[in-house]
Amino acid sequence: MRAPEGKCPIYMTVVTRFAPSPTGLLHVGGVRTALFSWLYARRMKGKFVLRVEDTDRERSTDEAVRVILEGMQWLGLDADEGPYYQTRRFDRYREVIAGMLAAGTAYHCYCTKQELDALREGQLARKEKPRYTGLCRSRTEPRPGVPPVVRFRNPTDGAVVVEDLVHGPVSFQNAELDDLIIARSDGTPTYNFCVVVDDMDMGITHVIRGDDHLNNAPRQMNMLRALGSTPPVYAHVPMILGPDGAKLSKRHGAVSVLQYEEEGFLPDALLNYLVRLGWSHGDQEVFTRDEMIAAFDIHDVNKAASAFNNEKLLWLNQQHMMRAPPARVVPYLQAQLRRIGIDSNDQTLLEGVILAQRERAKTLKEMAQSSRFLFVDSIEVDPQAAAKHLNPEGLGRLGQVRERLAALSEWTAPAINAALNELATQLAVGLGKIAQPLRVAVAGVAVSPPIDVTLGLLGRERTLLRLDSALARKTA
Ligand code: GLU
Repeated sequence: MRAPEGKCPIYMTVVTRFAPSPTGLLHVGGVRTALFSWLYARRMKGKFVLRVEDTDRERSTDEAVRVILEGMQWLGLDADEGPYYQTRRFDRYREVIAGMLAAGTAYHCYCTKQELDALREGQLARKEKPRYTGLCRSRTEPRPGVPPVVRFRNPTDGAVVVEDLVHGPVSFQNAELDDLIIARSDGTPTYNFCVVVDDMDMGITHVIRGDDHLNNAPRQMNMLRALGSTPPVYAHVPMILGPDGAKLSKRHGAVSVLQYEEEGFLPDALLNYLVRLGWSHGDQEVFTRDEMIAAFDIHDVNKAASAFNNEKLLWLNQQHMMRAPPARVVPYLQAQLRRIGIDSNDQTLLEGVILAQRERAKTLKEMAQSSRFLFVDSIEVDPQAAAKHLNPEGLGRLGQVRERLAALSEWTAPAINAALNELATQLAVGLGKIAQPLRVAVAGVAVSPPIDVTLGLLGRERTLLRLDSALARKTA
């Protein structure tokens, strides 16, 4: 049951939808609309519907549909219904059109392209806004040889007020809205009409979408009313802008949402970033998924557009990596490791790596790359690091390090730490003089997590083997 317009009493089940057109790859702008719709449904314990608006067959691609489905899955924006595809609902649209023709809320229009062009030119010459004047509204006879389109009989007077939750009331004069074509001469339904039938059939109570659709709302509301349905509540959310203030586009690197997966972002971090664009909750910046659901309210989204800031997204990603229980991050790290050819199911090692690396990596891609040495049998040593640290002096110390480590009875970070410190004291050098050659020998580079943690993760056998191959340089 729908509520009176603009209102949403508590007894009503909220039903929201995300209705992307697969004409371009889903990017963060679309994801934010999806997120707001999903969050509001979850917050209100309602339903979230996914609907693919693929009626533009020339511009829709299978690849774009795949990115929508995989992207939503990766993000965990699960739908309670759908995916519906508009191209599979043509029979339903035809049925509604036939009903409207029978009821007189739609009519056949036989105006030819030439006639419409002439009408338009005349209006432009008189400096009037081009619009269809309703020439065929009262025509009862077909015009032989002219395949008709179907037009909606829009009310001619009064105004339509969109009680928008983000923009406030926005009023449109009916006189400005001409009779929209709802079916082309080949019988195919048009975009705005399909949206109306779907929103009605799917019981959508709240339409949350980009504010580039605000101008469609009054026409859609008129059609819904003509169909005897109560329009949903609308919330038109502002666009995301690029850092230069223009609408976010490919030019700003607005790529497929799956690219963020590839780059090693956690879905929760991306969602956290997007929810904060145009919405706030006190001065809280970091939200878990549950916190977002508990705090989000579509009524609080503001209408100013916000700019995308990659640095902040990176910061949030690291915050989420640090706050999430390591076990939850493991599958994402595994996915990144697979991209660089490493297939590991060693849960203890994977969790250990996350704990050791999360303070020094902003993405899981970075984490996987700098942890590769912990998963492979042999490594390449960076020549510059070798020249600096695996010099005769460094290698001399490494020989002693090897002896001490080989003698350890237990292989744990504290035991390793104690052994290395003892050696440093005995040699009267800082720990760094020992740790750096050791690091280069085991990791191949001069940066890694604390050396005791690193060796603990690497294990005794691999550590000693790597020390042996570094020590072999002495004689090489
Ligand atoms: N299919 C439209 C788009 O991708 C959205 C339509 C709507 O939400 O009503 O822009």
